[in-house]
Amino acid sequence: MPKTLRLHTLSQDEAILRAPNIELTFPLSKDVLELIEDMKVTVKKAPGIGLAAPQVGANLMLAIIHLEEFGIEAFALINPKVISRSIKKTAMEEGCLSIPKVFGQVKRPAKVEVTGYTQEGRKVHIKGGKLLAKVLQHEIDHLNGILIADKFEK
Ligand SMILES: [Zn+2]
Repeated sequence: MPKTLRLHTLSQDEAILRAPNIELTFPLSKDVLELIEDMKVTVKKAPGIGLAAPQVGANLMLAIIHLEEFGIEAFALINPKVISRSIKKTAMEEGCLSIPKVFGQVKRPAKVEVTGYTQEGRKVHIKGGKLLAKVLQHEIDHLNGILIADKFEK
């Protein structure tokens, strides 16, 4: 049975949140597949719209996007990269499961194109706007050791 994992926070676990994350190779190991199921349960329970592996203590290039409210079933995104960004930027209030109760305005490109892999190893190409663009960028930032607290508009 998938289990809820401990959410690592900036105040207690900064070293893990800032550490480099390792690219995964396919097929994924049984341990990584189990981690993915645990992360899906954890992000739903939090609740959150995204969760990156370092946030649960695993320094791997893996994130879960959870936008079920918007009709997108929770999915794992592996080794993701932003390959193009719109010139237009928009600010949105963002929060982070690693920085509980703190919200702030973060300015980011309004649209992005991301490539990555599904948990089965299928290559995906996602063009996102609005909230999907923001959550993709927020999670990919985590995979590069960047947190929203670094980006709050002053
Ligand atoms: Zn976050």
